[in-house]
Amino acid sequence: MIQLSDRLMAMEESATIAMSRKSRELKAQGKDVISLSLGEPDFFTPQFIKDAAVEAMNNNFTMYTPVPGYDDLRESISLKFKRDNNLDYAKNQIVVSTGAKQSIANVVLSLINEGDEVIIPAPYWVSYLEIVKVAEGVPVVINAGIENDFKITGAQLEAAITPKTKLFMFSTPCNPTGSVYSKEELQDLANVLKKYPHIVALSDEIYEHINFKGKHESLAQFPEIYNQVVTVNGVSKAWAMTGWRLGYIGAPKEIADACDKVQGQFTSATCSITQKAAIAAMKAEPAVLKDMIAAFKSRRELVLNSLNKMPGVITNNPEGAFYVFPDISSFFGKKFGAYTINTAEDLCMYLLEESLVALVSGEAFGDPNCFRISYAASEETLTEAMKRIAEGLAKLS
Ligand code: PMP
Ligand code: GLU
Repeated sequence: MIQLSDRLMAMEESATIAMSRKSRELKAQGKDVISLSLGEPDFFTPQFIKDAAVEAMNNNFTMYTPVPGYDDLRESISLKFKRDNNLDYAKNQIVVSTGAKQSIANVVLSLINEGDEVIIPAPYWVSYLEIVKVAEGVPVVINAGIENDFKITGAQLEAAITPKTKLFMFSTPCNPTGSVYSKEELQDLANVLKKYPHIVALSDEIYEHINFKGKHESLAQFPEIYNQVVTVNGVSKAWAMTGWRLGYIGAPKEIADACDKVQGQFTSATCSITQKAAIAAMKAEPAVLKDMIAAFKSRRELVLNSLNKMPGVITNNPEGAFYVFPDISSFFGKKFGAYTINTAEDLCMYLLEESLVALVSGEAFGDPNCFRISYAASEETLTEAMKRIAEGLAKLS
Protein backbone atom coordinates (compact mmCIF):
# COMPACT_ATOMS: atom_id res chain seq x y z
CA MET A 1 0.00 0.00 0.00
CA ILE A 2 1.26 3.47 -0.85
CA GLN A 3 2.05 5.55 2.21
CA LEU A 4 2.08 9.26 1.63
CA SER A 5 4.37 11.49 3.69
CA ASP A 6 3.23 13.03 6.99
CA ARG A 7 4.14 16.36 5.40
CA LEU A 8 1.66 15.80 2.59
CA MET A 9 -1.03 14.39 4.87
CA ALA A 10 -0.81 17.47 7.12
CA MET A 11 -1.33 19.77 4.12
CA GLU A 12 -4.76 21.12 3.15
CA GLU A 13 -5.76 21.28 -0.48
CA SER A 14 -5.87 24.86 -1.79
CA ALA A 15 -9.46 25.98 -1.11
CA THR A 16 -9.46 28.44 -4.01
CA ILE A 17 -8.42 25.75 -6.44
CA ALA A 18 -10.77 23.15 -4.89
CA MET A 19 -13.78 25.45 -5.22
CA SER A 20 -13.00 26.35 -8.82
CA ARG A 21 -12.65 22.63 -9.60
CA LYS A 22 -16.04 21.94 -8.00
CA SER A 23 -17.73 24.66 -10.02
CA ARG A 24 -16.08 23.38 -13.20
CA GLU A 25 -17.48 19.90 -12.46
CA LEU A 26 -20.99 21.28 -11.95
CA LYS A 27 -20.71 23.25 -15.19
CA ALA A 28 -19.67 20.06 -16.98
CA GLN A 29 -22.89 18.47 -15.68
CA GLY A 30 -24.78 21.24 -17.45
CA LYS A 31 -25.47 23.40 -14.36
CA ASP A 32 -25.37 27.13 -14.94
CA VAL A 33 -22.88 27.89 -12.15
CA ILE A 34 -21.36 31.36 -11.81
CA SER A 35 -17.87 31.01 -10.42
CA LEU A 36 -16.57 33.88 -8.34
CA SER A 37 -14.15 31.54 -6.61
CA LEU A 38 -10.82 31.92 -8.34
CA GLY A 39 -8.67 35.02 -8.07
CA GLU A 40 -8.02 35.39 -11.75
CA PRO A 41 -8.55 38.41 -14.02
CA ASP A 42 -11.18 37.77 -16.70
CA PHE A 43 -9.21 39.94 -19.15
CA PHE A 44 -6.93 38.47 -21.79
CA THR A 45 -3.19 39.05 -21.79
CA PRO A 46 -2.47 42.30 -23.70
CA GLN A 47 -1.53 41.79 -27.35
CA PHE A 48 1.92 43.42 -27.06
CA ILE A 49 2.90 40.80 -24.48
CA LYS A 50 1.66 37.94 -26.67
CA ASP A 51 3.59 39.45 -29.59
CA ALA A 52 6.78 39.45 -27.50
CA ALA A 53 6.22 35.75 -26.76
CA VAL A 54 5.78 34.88 -30.43
CA GLU A 55 8.91 36.80 -31.29
CA ALA A 56 10.82 34.97 -28.53
CA MET A 57 9.75 31.61 -29.92
CA ASN A 58 10.64 32.60 -33.47
CA ASN A 59 14.04 33.74 -32.23
CA ASN A 60 14.52 30.37 -30.56
CA PHE A 61 14.47 31.45 -26.95
CA THR A 62 13.38 27.92 -26.18
CA MET A 63 16.18 26.52 -24.08
CA TYR A 64 17.07 26.38 -20.39
CA THR A 65 17.76 29.85 -19.05
CA PRO A 66 19.80 30.96 -16.04
CA VAL A 67 17.95 29.68 -12.94
CA PRO A 68 17.04 33.13 -11.54
CA GLY A 69 15.93 34.38 -14.97
CA TYR A 70 17.47 35.95 -18.09
CA ASP A 71 19.74 38.91 -17.36
CA ASP A 72 17.65 41.28 -19.49
CA LEU A 73 14.48 40.25 -17.64
CA ARG A 74 16.08 40.86 -14.26
CA GLU A 75 17.38 44.21 -15.48
CA SER A 76 13.87 45.19 -16.55
CA ILE A 77 12.50 44.10 -13.14
CA SER A 78 15.19 46.17 -11.43
CA LEU A 79 14.06 49.21 -13.46
CA LYS A 80 10.41 48.47 -12.69
CA PHE A 81 11.15 48.38 -8.94
CA LYS A 82 12.82 51.80 -9.26
CA ARG A 83 10.12 53.32 -11.50
CA ASP A 84 7.05 52.07 -9.63
CA ASN A 85 8.24 51.56 -6.07
CA ASN A 86 11.40 53.67 -5.77
CA LEU A 87 13.21 50.54 -4.58
CA ASP A 88 16.81 49.74 -5.44
CA TYR A 89 17.24 46.08 -6.25
CA ALA A 90 20.31 45.13 -8.28
CA LYS A 91 20.00 42.30 -10.78
CA ASN A 92 21.65 39.86 -8.37
CA GLN A 93 18.99 40.58 -5.76
CA ILE A 94 16.21 39.46 -8.10
CA VAL A 95 15.04 35.88 -8.61
CA VAL A 96 12.32 35.04 -11.13
CA SER A 97 10.20 31.94 -10.45
CA THR A 98 7.32 29.87 -11.76
CA GLY A 99 4.68 32.18 -10.29
CA ALA A 100 4.77 34.23 -7.11
CA LYS A 101 3.56 31.07 -5.42
CA GLN A 102 6.96 29.51 -6.05
CA SER A 103 8.71 32.74 -5.06
CA ILE A 104 7.02 32.51 -1.66
CA ALA A 105 7.80 28.79 -1.30
CA ASN A 106 11.47 29.46 -2.15
CA VAL A 107 11.74 32.15 0.53
CA VAL A 108 10.08 30.01 3.19
CA LEU A 109 12.19 26.94 2.34
CA SER A 110 15.32 29.10 2.39
CA LEU A 111 14.67 30.52 5.85
CA ILE A 112 12.61 28.17 7.96
CA ASN A 113 13.89 25.37 10.18
CA GLU A 114 11.63 22.97 12.04
CA GLY A 115 9.88 24.86 14.84
CA ASP A 116 10.68 28.37 13.58
CA GLU A 117 7.72 30.68 13.96
CA VAL A 118 6.19 32.60 11.08
CA ILE A 119 3.80 35.43 11.92
CA ILE A 120 0.86 35.66 9.52
CA PRO A 121 -1.98 38.16 9.95
CA ALA A 122 -5.41 36.63 9.24
CA PRO A 123 -7.21 36.86 6.88
CA TYR A 124 -4.28 35.59 4.82
CA TRP A 125 -3.94 34.12 1.38
CA VAL A 126 -4.65 30.36 1.53
CA SER A 127 -1.21 29.11 0.53
CA TYR A 128 0.87 31.00 3.13
CA LEU A 129 -0.05 28.69 6.00
CA GLU A 130 0.39 25.47 4.06
CA ILE A 131 3.77 26.49 2.63
CA VAL A 132 4.98 27.24 6.17
CA LYS A 133 3.68 23.88 7.41
CA VAL A 134 5.48 22.00 4.62
CA ALA A 135 8.70 23.72 5.69
CA GLU A 136 7.99 22.45 9.26
CA GLY A 137 7.59 26.00 10.51
CA VAL A 138 4.96 27.02 13.02
CA PRO A 139 2.40 29.57 11.78
CA VAL A 140 1.55 32.19 14.42
CA VAL A 141 -1.67 33.82 13.33
CA ILE A 142 -2.71 37.34 14.38
CA ASN A 143 -6.42 37.96 13.93
CA ALA A 144 -7.08 41.24 12.18
CA GLY A 145 -10.82 41.75 12.44
CA ILE A 146 -13.17 43.49 10.03
CA GLU A 147 -13.51 46.32 12.57
CA ASN A 148 -9.83 47.16 11.91
CA ASP A 149 -10.29 46.90 8.14
CA PHE A 150 -8.53 43.51 8.45
CA LYS A 151 -5.15 45.16 9.08
CA ILE A 152 -2.74 44.75 11.99
CA THR A 153 -0.77 47.36 13.91
CA GLY A 154 2.88 47.38 14.94
CA ALA A 155 1.79 46.69 18.53
CA GLN A 156 -0.07 43.54 17.44
CA LEU A 157 2.96 42.42 15.44
CA GLU A 158 5.27 43.01 18.40
CA ALA A 159 2.99 41.09 20.76
CA ALA A 160 3.28 38.02 18.50
CA ILE A 161 7.10 38.08 18.33
CA THR A 162 8.98 35.44 20.36
CA PRO A 163 12.62 34.33 20.33
CA LYS A 164 11.58 31.74 17.72
CA THR A 165 10.12 34.23 15.23
CA LYS A 166 11.95 34.08 11.93
CA LEU A 167 9.55 35.48 9.36
CA PHE A 168 6.53 37.75 9.02
CA MET A 169 4.42 37.48 5.86
CA PHE A 170 1.47 39.46 4.57
CA SER A 171 -0.02 40.92 1.39
CA THR A 172 -0.93 44.51 0.50
CA PRO A 173 -3.30 44.94 -1.30
CA CYS A 174 -4.57 41.90 0.56
CA ASN A 175 -6.02 38.71 -0.79
CA PRO A 176 -8.75 37.99 0.46
CA THR A 177 -9.82 41.31 2.04
CA GLY A 178 -8.82 43.96 -0.49
CA SER A 179 -7.30 45.97 2.38
CA VAL A 180 -4.42 48.25 1.50
CA TYR A 181 -1.80 49.38 4.03
CA SER A 182 -1.02 53.10 3.98
CA LYS A 183 2.52 54.45 4.29
CA GLU A 184 1.88 55.33 7.94
CA GLU A 185 0.58 51.83 8.70
CA LEU A 186 3.64 50.27 7.06
CA GLN A 187 5.90 52.67 8.98
CA ASP A 188 4.28 51.42 12.19
CA LEU A 189 5.19 47.83 11.24
CA ALA A 190 8.69 48.92 10.18
CA ASN A 191 9.28 50.59 13.56
CA VAL A 192 8.75 47.21 15.20
CA LEU A 193 10.69 45.15 12.66
CA LYS A 194 13.78 47.36 12.96
CA LYS A 195 14.07 46.35 16.62
CA TYR A 196 14.37 42.68 15.53
CA PRO A 197 16.89 42.70 12.68
CA HIS A 198 16.99 38.88 12.46
CA ILE A 199 13.29 38.76 11.48
CA VAL A 200 12.60 38.78 7.75
CA ALA A 201 9.40 40.33 6.38
CA LEU A 202 7.89 38.96 3.18
CA SER A 203 5.76 41.67 1.61
CA ASP A 204 3.53 40.18 -1.10
CA GLU A 205 2.66 43.06 -3.43
CA ILE A 206 1.29 41.08 -6.38
CA TYR A 207 -1.85 43.26 -6.47
CA GLU A 208 0.08 46.55 -6.36
CA HIS A 209 -1.45 47.96 -9.54
CA ILE A 210 -5.02 47.05 -8.59
CA ASN A 211 -5.31 49.81 -6.04
CA PHE A 212 -8.23 52.24 -5.90
CA LYS A 213 -6.70 54.35 -3.19
CA GLY A 214 -3.91 55.88 -5.18
CA LYS A 215 -0.23 55.18 -4.86
CA HIS A 216 0.98 51.74 -3.83
CA GLU A 217 3.28 51.72 -0.81
CA SER A 218 6.03 49.10 -0.41
CA LEU A 219 7.31 47.87 2.93
CA ALA A 220 10.91 47.85 1.68
CA GLN A 221 10.83 51.67 1.21
CA PHE A 222 11.97 52.24 4.81
CA PRO A 223 15.79 52.24 4.76
CA GLU A 224 16.00 51.03 8.37
CA ILE A 225 14.44 47.66 7.41
CA TYR A 226 15.34 47.39 3.72
CA ASN A 227 17.84 44.61 4.52
CA GLN A 228 15.12 42.56 6.23
CA VAL A 229 12.44 42.74 3.55
CA VAL A 230 11.69 40.45 0.63
CA THR A 231 9.34 42.09 -1.88
CA VAL A 232 7.25 39.58 -3.84
CA ASN A 233 5.53 40.49 -7.07
CA GLY A 234 4.48 38.90 -10.36
CA VAL A 235 2.71 39.32 -13.67
CA SER A 236 -0.37 37.14 -13.03
CA LYS A 237 -2.76 39.79 -11.80
CA ALA A 238 -1.99 43.18 -13.33
CA TRP A 239 -1.05 41.76 -16.71
CA ALA A 240 -3.66 38.99 -16.80
CA MET A 241 -0.94 36.36 -17.17
CA THR A 242 -2.03 33.71 -14.65
CA GLY A 243 -1.30 30.81 -17.00
CA TRP A 244 2.14 32.02 -18.04
CA ARG A 245 3.58 31.40 -14.56
CA LEU A 246 5.99 34.15 -13.61
CA GLY A 247 6.62 35.74 -10.23
CA TYR A 248 9.71 37.37 -8.77
CA ILE A 249 11.38 38.67 -5.64
CA GLY A 250 13.61 41.59 -4.80
CA ALA A 251 15.55 40.56 -1.72
CA PRO A 252 18.72 40.87 0.34
CA LYS A 253 21.44 39.15 -1.70
CA GLU A 254 21.85 36.19 0.72
CA ILE A 255 18.16 35.38 0.39
CA ALA A 256 18.20 35.79 -3.40
CA ASP A 257 21.18 33.40 -3.58
CA ALA A 258 19.37 30.91 -1.35
CA CYS A 259 16.23 31.03 -3.51
CA ASP A 260 18.36 30.54 -6.63
CA LYS A 261 19.85 27.42 -4.99
CA VAL A 262 16.46 25.97 -3.95
CA GLN A 263 14.97 26.64 -7.37
CA GLY A 264 18.02 25.12 -9.09
CA GLN A 265 17.12 21.80 -7.49
CA PHE A 266 13.33 21.95 -7.70
CA THR A 267 12.29 23.45 -11.03
CA SER A 268 15.14 25.43 -12.65
CA ALA A 269 14.01 28.67 -14.27
CA THR A 270 10.48 29.39 -15.40
CA CYS A 271 9.56 29.16 -19.09
CA SER A 272 11.97 30.96 -21.43
CA ILE A 273 9.14 32.31 -23.62
CA THR A 274 7.22 33.62 -20.62
CA GLN A 275 10.36 35.40 -19.45
CA LYS A 276 10.77 37.24 -22.75
CA ALA A 277 7.07 38.16 -22.74
CA ALA A 278 7.40 39.47 -19.19
CA ILE A 279 10.11 41.91 -20.31
CA ALA A 280 7.46 43.62 -22.44
CA ALA A 281 5.16 43.82 -19.39
CA MET A 282 7.92 45.25 -17.19
CA LYS A 283 8.79 47.91 -19.75
CA ALA A 284 5.19 49.05 -20.23
CA GLU A 285 4.12 52.07 -18.22
CA PRO A 286 1.57 51.11 -15.56
CA ALA A 287 -0.67 53.86 -17.05
CA VAL A 288 -1.74 51.35 -19.73
CA LEU A 289 -3.59 49.48 -16.96
CA LYS A 290 -5.91 52.44 -16.37
CA ASP A 291 -8.95 50.92 -18.10
CA MET A 292 -8.62 47.60 -16.33
CA ILE A 293 -8.35 49.31 -12.95
CA ALA A 294 -11.39 51.46 -13.74
CA ALA A 295 -13.33 48.29 -14.67
CA PHE A 296 -12.39 46.63 -11.37
CA LYS A 297 -13.37 49.76 -9.49
CA SER A 298 -16.85 49.92 -10.94
CA ARG A 299 -17.31 46.17 -10.35
CA ARG A 300 -16.33 46.72 -6.74
CA GLU A 301 -19.04 49.41 -6.42
CA LEU A 302 -21.59 47.06 -7.95
CA VAL A 303 -20.73 44.21 -5.55
CA LEU A 304 -20.51 46.44 -2.46
CA ASN A 305 -23.81 48.18 -3.27
CA SER A 306 -25.56 44.83 -3.57
CA LEU A 307 -23.97 43.38 -0.43
CA ASN A 308 -24.81 46.47 1.58
CA LYS A 309 -28.48 45.94 0.73
CA MET A 310 -28.46 42.35 2.06
CA PRO A 311 -29.57 42.20 5.70
CA GLY A 312 -27.02 40.44 7.92
CA VAL A 313 -24.04 40.99 5.62
CA ILE A 314 -21.19 43.21 6.87
CA THR A 315 -18.39 44.47 4.62
CA ASN A 316 -15.23 46.51 4.99
CA ASN A 317 -14.26 48.94 2.26
CA PRO A 318 -11.76 47.06 0.10
CA GLU A 319 -9.34 49.47 -1.55
CA GLY A 320 -7.42 47.10 -3.78
CA ALA A 321 -7.17 43.66 -5.42
CA PHE A 322 -10.47 42.22 -6.73
CA TYR A 323 -11.99 40.62 -3.68
CA VAL A 324 -14.65 41.38 -1.09
CA PHE A 325 -14.61 39.40 2.14
CA PRO A 326 -17.95 39.99 3.89
CA ASP A 327 -18.77 38.78 7.39
CA ILE A 328 -21.77 36.48 7.04
CA SER A 329 -21.75 34.97 10.55
CA SER A 330 -25.27 36.30 11.22
CA PHE A 331 -26.55 33.43 9.04
CA PHE A 332 -25.07 30.74 11.29
CA GLY A 333 -27.85 28.68 12.86
CA LYS A 334 -30.30 29.43 10.01
CA LYS A 335 -31.95 26.83 7.78
CA PHE A 336 -33.57 26.26 4.42
CA GLY A 337 -35.03 22.86 3.48
CA ALA A 338 -32.42 20.19 4.19
CA TYR A 339 -29.70 22.80 4.65
CA THR A 340 -28.57 23.97 8.10
CA ILE A 341 -25.91 26.66 8.06
CA ASN A 342 -23.43 26.36 10.90
CA THR A 343 -20.27 27.58 9.17
CA ALA A 344 -19.11 29.71 6.27
CA GLU A 345 -18.30 26.46 4.51
CA ASP A 346 -21.94 25.31 4.92
CA LEU A 347 -23.10 28.64 3.53
CA CYS A 348 -20.79 28.38 0.50
CA MET A 349 -21.98 24.82 -0.17
CA TYR A 350 -25.61 25.97 0.08
CA LEU A 351 -25.02 28.92 -2.26
CA LEU A 352 -23.21 26.65 -4.72
CA GLU A 353 -25.85 23.91 -4.78
CA GLU A 354 -28.98 26.00 -4.29
CA SER A 355 -28.08 29.34 -5.88
CA LEU A 356 -25.40 28.15 -8.32
CA VAL A 357 -22.77 30.67 -7.25
CA ALA A 358 -19.28 29.48 -6.30
CA LEU A 359 -17.48 31.45 -3.57
CA VAL A 360 -14.67 30.43 -1.21
CA SER A 361 -15.38 30.12 2.49
CA GLY A 362 -13.30 32.09 4.97
CA GLU A 363 -11.93 29.13 6.96
CA ALA A 364 -9.06 28.62 4.51
CA PHE A 365 -8.18 32.33 4.77
CA GLY A 366 -8.11 32.17 8.57
CA ASP A 367 -11.47 33.87 9.22
CA PRO A 368 -14.39 31.47 9.61
CA ASN A 369 -16.99 34.28 9.79
CA CYS A 370 -16.54 35.35 6.19
CA PHE A 371 -16.55 34.22 2.60
CA ARG A 372 -14.61 35.57 -0.36
CA ILE A 373 -16.14 36.94 -3.51
CA SER A 374 -13.76 37.42 -6.42
CA TYR A 375 -15.26 40.13 -8.61
CA ALA A 376 -12.98 39.50 -11.57
CA ALA A 377 -16.02 38.92 -13.79
CA SER A 378 -18.15 41.04 -16.12
CA GLU A 379 -20.75 43.43 -14.65
CA GLU A 380 -23.48 41.36 -16.25
CA THR A 381 -22.22 38.19 -14.56
CA LEU A 382 -21.75 40.00 -11.26
CA THR A 383 -25.27 41.46 -11.38
CA GLU A 384 -26.76 38.00 -11.86
CA ALA A 385 -24.49 36.48 -9.18
CA MET A 386 -25.43 39.13 -6.62
CA LYS A 387 -29.11 38.59 -7.38
CA ARG A 388 -28.70 34.86 -6.78
CA ILE A 389 -26.77 35.39 -3.54
CA ALA A 390 -29.38 37.86 -2.26
CA GLU A 391 -32.19 35.41 -3.02
CA GLY A 392 -30.29 32.49 -1.50
CA LEU A 393 -29.57 34.38 1.72
CA ALA A 394 -33.15 35.67 1.95
CA LYS A 395 -34.47 32.11 1.92
CA LEU A 396 -32.57 31.25 5.12
CA SER A 397 -34.41 31.65 8.40
N1 PMP B 1 0.10 36.01 -3.64
C1 PMP B 1 -1.20 36.32 -3.59
C2 PMP B 1 -1.67 37.23 -2.51
C3 PMP B 1 -2.09 35.76 -4.52
O1 PMP B 1 -3.39 36.06 -4.46
C4 PMP B 1 -1.60 34.88 -5.49
C5 PMP B 1 -2.64 34.25 -6.38
N2 PMP B 1 -2.48 33.95 -7.53
C6 PMP B 1 -0.23 34.62 -5.52
C7 PMP B 1 0.59 35.19 -4.58
C8 PMP B 1 0.40 33.69 -6.51
O2 PMP B 1 0.32 34.15 -7.80
P1 PMP B 1 1.06 33.46 -9.03
O3 PMP B 1 1.66 32.19 -8.53
O4 PMP B 1 0.02 33.25 -10.07
O5 PMP B 1 2.11 34.44 -9.47
N1 GLU C 1 -4.35 33.30 -5.94
C1 GLU C 1 -5.60 33.10 -6.62
C2 GLU C 1 -6.70 32.98 -5.60
O1 GLU C 1 -6.50 33.32 -4.48
C3 GLU C 1 -5.51 31.93 -7.56
C4 GLU C 1 -5.65 30.57 -6.98
C5 GLU C 1 -4.44 30.10 -6.29
O2 GLU C 1 -3.35 30.29 -6.82
O3 GLU C 1 -4.61 29.56 -5.18
O4 GLU C 1 -7.78 32.59 -5.93
